[in-house]
Amino acid sequence: MEIKKIGVLGAGTMGNGIAQVSALSGHEVVMRDIEDRFLESGMNAIKKSLSKGVEKGKLAQEQMDDALSRIRTTLNVEDLKDVDLVIEAVIENVDLKKGVFKELDELVRDDVVFASNTSSISITELGAATKRPDKFIGMHFMNPVPIMKLIEIIRGMETSDETTKAIVALSEKMGKIPVEVNDYPGFVSNRILMPMINEAIFCVQEGVGTVESIDSVMKLGMNHPLGPLQVADLIGLDVCLFIMEVLHEGFGDPKYRPAPLLKKMVRSGNLGRKTGKGFYEY
Ligand code: NAD
Repeated sequence: MEIKKIGVLGAGTMGNGIAQVSALSGHEVVMRDIEDRFLESGMNAIKKSLSKGVEKGKLAQEQMDDALSRIRTTLNVEDLKDVDLVIEAVIENVDLKKGVFKELDELVRDDVVFASNTSSISITELGAATKRPDKFIGMHFMNPVPIMKLIEIIRGMETSDETTKAIVALSEKMGKIPVEVNDYPGFVSNRILMPMINEAIFCVQEGVGTVESIDSVMKLGMNHPLGPLQVADLIGLDVCLFIMEVLHEGFGDPKYRPAPLLKKMVRSGNLGRKTGKGFYEY
């Protein structure tokens, strides 16, 4: 099966990045969101990112124009009926995600693969909510999508070899490096990243070091480009807490308990960069 036309659900941070890399790699794209303003800001983000590529000489003006001409936006899910692949990047809510896949299950051909960009929801569970669990897979792009090389490819319990092969090949065509993993809470990326961030928050809570000193140890000593608390602010503390809760519940192991300070900061509404204050002020 050749993938020519890709339906992208959600025009937010991840959705617009996925639409951009899909169009740049020669695919027709239909990007769907639920309000015009989200589609508009998604398209603006794509134009801004492509223009930067042209300014830096990484992209020809013609490539930018071609990519833009391949992206269509819509509020109407019916416009996705002839796509060859769906990549879902709606907000991280299991019922919403199951709902959008159920709707598409009825609409698109039976051979169409469904991919979810979820950071933490079980691929097996989402796949089981469709009539095509063998054609359901995780495509975990990293933020910012046009820049980050990795796509963590997550195989659910029923995902077929054929589906995996097709998605690995597509990821390579997009200029990315796919890495295959199996479906367990947090996959590999967040299972390792989030407990590290959580541990850094315990260190703040216990007064082992200051925010700055903890980040400095990890940057200077481990060669991390950002400290774990800077990363937490970037991701959003509410998202970090949500993923820790997924790990805690999914494994039932107390080693994944969220740091009380993380919970307290989320309750205070200081969520990181997006609210202007987290471990740092912005
Ligand atoms: P976002 O809030 O920026 O965008 C989500 C978009 O989905 C919004 O524009 C919203 O209007 C839209 N939407 C809601 N319901 C919809 C529907 N029924 N149909 C179509 N669109 C709908 O969120 P995001 O940061 O882009 O995250 C999207 C997904 O990607 C989540 O599952 C998240 O866990 C995952 N993810 C996020 C990051 C990140 O760093 N932001 C990284 C990796 C994975």
